[in-house]
Amino acid sequence: MSKIKSVTSKIYRIPLSEPLMDAKHGNHTHFELITVRVILNNGLEGTGYTYTGGRGGSAIKAMIDNDIVPFVLGKNSTTVEDINDELQWYLHYVGRGGISSFAISAVDIALWDIRGKTLNQPLSNMSGGVNTKCLAYCGGIDLNFSLPKLLNNIRGYLALGVKGVKIKIGRDQLEDDIERIRQVRNLIGPNISLMVDANYSMNITRAIKAAKLFEQYDVLWFEEPIEPDNFSGYGTVSKGSSVALAMGENLHTMREFEHAFELSKLSFIQPDASNCGGITCWLKVAKKAKEKNINISSHGMQELHVSLVSGQGSKNWIEIHSFPIDQYTLRPLQLNNGFAIAPDTPGIGVEFDWEKLEDAADRN
Ligand SMILES: [Mg+2]
Repeated sequence: MSKIKSVTSKIYRIPLSEPLMDAKHGNHTHFELITVRVILNNGLEGTGYTYTGGRGGSAIKAMIDNDIVPFVLGKNSTTVEDINDELQWYLHYVGRGGISSFAISAVDIALWDIRGKTLNQPLSNMSGGVNTKCLAYCGGIDLNFSLPKLLNNIRGYLALGVKGVKIKIGRDQLEDDIERIRQVRNLIGPNISLMVDANYSMNITRAIKAAKLFEQYDVLWFEEPIEPDNFSGYGTVSKGSSVALAMGENLHTMREFEHAFELSKLSFIQPDASNCGGITCWLKVAKKAKEKNINISSHGMQELHVSLVSGQGSKNWIEIHSFPIDQYTLRPLQLNNGFAIAPDTPGIGVEFDWEKLEDAADRN
């Protein structure tokens, strides 16, 4: 039995190359990366991490350092699911579905890294092993881009060879959204998938009106039309048009996913292993999605999700997120003919370029 000997965390505040905007979170100027290094008695070690849109990272780090580290030291590292469950309840009163979901995720991912290294298994194998590649689309955070800039950005995505692109919507005037969708569809042609993401900026009436207007542009999915906690509201929006709905990045407990599966009539579910409770919970969501015949996708962290999503099947999509975490790893995301390729190294397959992170991070 290998016991957990030490857990250390770090936070990096990484500037984006330009401010990025969506409908609800204002300008993003940075992302925060919170890393966790777990070392066992036998010397084996694993790395986990979570990220934010630039706010709350120091609270996540504080919860890891003050509450999680003393709780997990000395525990048997192989009982990953038990540790995850114990942490969920240990932190439930103050943290349910909030900061604690991010903090637990980072530690859980480190324990999965150790599990993979111990079993000599890459993460795609541990996530079902169906395939080692999956579809990839680029997710823009581009609501503040002028139309020419938006189209130029999309041209850059197409040059990567991806099979799908996603744009932000939720501008003040619905006509603006429709015009941007029309122009992007025009640019990409009929064979590239187009997704739209409102970041829960609409009410039910507006969302239905918008979705009906999207139909003619062959939108693959309408992401987060309304606030994520309004599970039955999604069911109502779904009935209003033929456009498929997607959400998941703001569901942070298994109970929330269960509500969504039950009430929201989603066609795509997008758990993010950095905030839903780690790989342990991501796999639980994937299992449930399969039972419900809902397509499993992901949000953010392409360098990690490429393995989780590929393991579920090659026709599932990963988002290539605009927070380029993968550019700070030793193996940035690899694309081949529109598919993202999962790493074959044992563990989670994500190794950070620590020097590059240190150099890029803001000091204050
Ligand atoms: Mg989104």
